[in-house]
Amino acid sequence: MSVIGIDFGNESCYIAVAKAGGIETIANDYSLRGTPSCVAFSQKNRILGVAAKNQMVTNMKNTVFGFKRLLGRKFSDPYVQKELKHFPFKVEQRPDGGIGIRVNYLGEDNVFSPEQLTAMLFTKLKESATIALQTPINDCVISVPGYFTNAERNALLDAASIAGLNVLRLMNETTATALAYGIYKQDLPAPEEKPKNVVFVDFGHSSLQVSACAFNKGKLRVLATSTDPQCGGRDIDMALAEYFCQDIFSRLKLDAKKNQRAFLRLLQEVEKLKKQMSANSTRLPIHIECFMEERDVSSELQRSQMEQICAETFTRIERTMRAILHNAKLRPEDIHSVEIVGGSTRIPAVKNLIEQVFNKAASTTLNQDEAVSRGCALQCAMLSPAVRVREFSVADVQPYAVRLAWDATKGEDGDMEVFPAFHAAPFSKMLTFYRKEPFSVSAYYSDQVPYPDTFIGQWHIRDVQPTAEGESQKVKLKVRVNIHGIITVASASLVEKKQDAAQAENIEMENANDNPQGQESAMDTNGASQDQQNGPENQEVRDDEMKGEPQQKQSWTQKVGQWFSGDKSKDKKKVLIKTIELPIDAQTHGFPKHELNAYLEQEGKMQAQDRQEKERADARNALEEYVYELRGKLSEGETLHDFISEEQRNRLVNQLDALEQWLYEEGEDQHRQVYSDKLTELRTEGEPIKQRRLEFELRPGALDDFARAI
Ligand code: ATP
Ligand code: MG
Repeated sequence: MSVIGIDFGNESCYIAVAKAGGIETIANDYSLRGTPSCVAFSQKNRILGVAAKNQMVTNMKNTVFGFKRLLGRKFSDPYVQKELKHFPFKVEQRPDGGIGIRVNYLGEDNVFSPEQLTAMLFTKLKESATIALQTPINDCVISVPGYFTNAERNALLDAASIAGLNVLRLMNETTATALAYGIYKQDLPAPEEKPKNVVFVDFGHSSLQVSACAFNKGKLRVLATSTDPQCGGRDIDMALAEYFCQDIFSRLKLDAKKNQRAFLRLLQEVEKLKKQMSANSTRLPIHIECFMEERDVSSELQRSQMEQICAETFTRIERTMRAILHNAKLRPEDIHSVEIVGGSTRIPAVKNLIEQVFNKAASTTLNQDEAVSRGCALQCAMLSPAVRVREFSVADVQPYAVRLAWDATKGEDGDMEVFPAFHAAPFSKMLTFYRKEPFSVSAYYSDQVPYPDTFIGQWHIRDVQPTAEGESQKVKLKVRVNIHGIITVASASLVEKKQDAAQAENIEMENANDNPQGQESAMDTNGASQDQQNGPENQEVRDDEMKGEPQQKQSWTQKVGQWFSGDKSKDKKKVLIKTIELPIDAQTHGFPKHELNAYLEQEGKMQAQDRQEKERADARNALEEYVYELRGKLSEGETLHDFISEEQRNRLVNQLDALEQWLYEEGEDQHRQVYSDKLTELRTEGEPIKQRRLEFELRPGALDDFARAI
């Protein structure tokens, strides 16, 4: 069983594998370490990754990219509306309000969701890993932008499950980077010493993410993050493309805005220019042949001009970097180093801004492209029994304040903040309600979240009844930010006490042992209150693994529906508490089971189709290759020329010419069997000739025997 980490980038993906000897990056079928996040469709198959990107300009309408940022969003979302202005492919609203991408596949119109497209890309990554490692791939850790909400995270998990991947954790991108940084650092301060604070800046294709982390030996704690989800390398490309559009229009009266293909080519050229500019401050040329109306265009640009054209992007970058100081409550002098990753941090102006804001030069300890995937692979190894790695504890945060609302009974205020922004994650909180009947709670993000839809989920707690005396029952809800950063009501339980109720209040048992890493510690902030008018009581159950935190309370593992006795050492009174797990109806994001199964089945069929097409293409290639090889060897002066009579040779060469012709005409698109039958037939002629040559090489007299015979 292999242990892999996937960095799912908006532009490209990286896969890393954890092995006993360390972390390795897996190259794809083109021997490239990065695989473009690009999926294309043709009459016969899907084209995934590098091959998809290579044919983008010629198959524009059916080549899909940029879908990472469409996950979990509604079509009407203003962000989506803005994004789709730049897509050459067709995006539409699905009946449920979701996003559909319409492409021509197998000669028919097909509409795919962003989840399905992501799943297609994942199947490609999975295949690359399977081939490289020669083992089936199942368990993995996938990176996710820290700013992703529940809807986006659930969509990503759905995509992974359509691709048959078992996600042990969705890991925040900058946290994965921090882990890749910390685990090999030998000089971290001891646990009791002042931590070393490091800021990570990841400026990629579609967004900017900054995080501040505190490191001690064997552990890291994320202090805070600051992000600009709408500021990436592609915004620089777009600003430059707009500039050249105007420039070309004013000089040549060619309007690239009216020609999608020309604009796409301009974007590709501009990106190349931008990359050259990172290493070169002189004037650089841009030239595109046959741009529009069969005319070539040329222009040029200097780095300083680029910085002016993209000034807005740089202002946003500076703002986001300053925000980390505020969010993490750090001064520049408290920060040991600023580590940069992500393709766009190669831009000199970005490094200059870092120096301005943090008073220190950007540091490049990490592999800029591969750090995220390496961190994910390390995390996967820690969560999987398959590979042993050094223990390193990771305490993350979740970025937005989360509120919980409930149908208030008399006197309760019906709404509270369960997690403030930058609260530790994963984490659980126990909330106690007093209810006589089933009730609902719903969670939503606070207004600061940069999304139009703040809804997280609604949970209906069933089977709550009054006690025999007609009183309210004590119901405990566990509200959790889980290992994927998803907020849920993980459980609801009814707490019944036998014997003296007053004594029972002295005993609380918390089931905190639900961290996959087996670490547990429980914190009890409030004692159980009997005041039923004050709304839910709030208990925190910290299930991250911040070692060294004092255990404030003994944790027990409870079995549902059984009587337990707790013994409080102070007063030695025995009480029996029974907890009954209550059924919950959850309404959250993500596909319902039956829909997910349908997508799984569809993905399976598409894979079978791809396989079939590949076998067909391979069979055709094999025949074509044999035709060329044999004809070449039969020609004058070549190895097989003298091992066949002239008459037979002429007949065979004619046959080969005819076959070649056929391959490009009606033989272009035949079943695999047709090619392999023809190959078998041809081999019955070709192989005996090769055999005679071989015998001749082994026994020089053979040629004379043959000459005498014919
Ligand atoms: P995201 O993190 O936003 O999901 P990603 O992980 O795919 O996307 P990266 O691979 O980190 O993004 O970065 C890709 C971006 O970096 C592209 O916009 C690319 O143009 C830019 N880039 C790569 N190399 C350079 C360079 N030398 N100079 C400037 N920009 C560069
Ligand atoms: Mg990235």
